[in-house]
Amino acid sequence: MAAVARAIDPVSTFNHAEQLLEKQRDNEAFGLYFELRDSSRMAPLSYYRMGEILNRTGQIEESIDCHRKAFELDPHLARGLTTNDHPCHDYRYHFVEQTHTTQCPMCGEQGRKHSCYNAITKPDFTPGFDPIRVWMHCDACHHIFAANYPTDLIGALRQHNHGSHLSPRHEVFPALGRVLSNIRTLAPGNRLLEIGAGAGEMAAVAAEFLFDVVGIDIRPAYANAVAERLKIPVHACDFLDYQADDTFDVICMGDVLEHTTEPVRMLLKSISLLNPGGVLWISTPNFESAFSRVQHDASPLWRACEHLNYFCYRSLQAMLQTMGVAVVDYAISRHCLGTMEITCIRE
Ligand SMILES: [Zn+2]
Repeated sequence: MAAVARAIDPVSTFNHAEQLLEKQRDNEAFGLYFELRDSSRMAPLSYYRMGEILNRTGQIEESIDCHRKAFELDPHLARGLTTNDHPCHDYRYHFVEQTHTTQCPMCGEQGRKHSCYNAITKPDFTPGFDPIRVWMHCDACHHIFAANYPTDLIGALRQHNHGSHLSPRHEVFPALGRVLSNIRTLAPGNRLLEIGAGAGEMAAVAAEFLFDVVGIDIRPAYANAVAERLKIPVHACDFLDYQADDTFDVICMGDVLEHTTEPVRMLLKSISLLNPGGVLWISTPNFESAFSRVQHDASPLWRACEHLNYFCYRSLQAMLQTMGVAVVDYAISRHCLGTMEITCIRE
């Protein structure tokens, strides 16, 4: 009997590649995904997977090309990557006007491409962002920053409110209570400013600890909800535009610094609003955290589209010292994975 060439079934080849990927056999999986690049049905997901593997092997330009090709071939790529109940399941890829940068926002030196991720698999993806995120590393100050973000960043943030930030999560109160208990022992007075009030958990706990709380949030929906719920003043503005009429004994910046394109200005302005001996408390993801060290590229923090900076303890501490604040405590966040909490005092 004459041998008959077996037609390659793209679906079974893809499934086989997925099994190899599961077993971390990246090289063999890559070969199979590569074979599928002309399959109209399986090519988009195969390019996505190749983008992930190339990111792991440090071939960042090639990874970016693969992630772009995946969306180009199928703008509805998210349907193949997420379950039906995922908030981004029906996302359709579309052009977003973006600002591209290679300059480190901490020290001004040129960064080099560090990694590339597709953020569409993360349930809290914000629609006004491009899901393909390129991260840069600054060798001069050891900082990681986004190479691309929406040109109308504030507009993109304000157009979309995350439900998770409209309802307070009661389960985080004890963890925040420990933070505020420590701040209480250091603060020279009662006036506390919270930048990035979100759902108002920190502000609520600060009020319980008898602080006189003022809040700020860039999203009017969040600011208004917290003001209404807690009966405290909450300004709906970008902190950099905030016209303060007083100084503070404590400034809390919980999970905010990673969202700005101007972290240096934000830190300097915060410090200028602190009374002598005042406390600056910062919570932000740390790319050298224990969590990041064990998660590698599986960490969801690489796919957080609204994050534009990824700090580490070393570089942030060095920056704070040059700004005249002394770091007095370092802790691992009890409610945000891979996040550090730095407490410092204005000298
Ligand atoms: Zn730098």
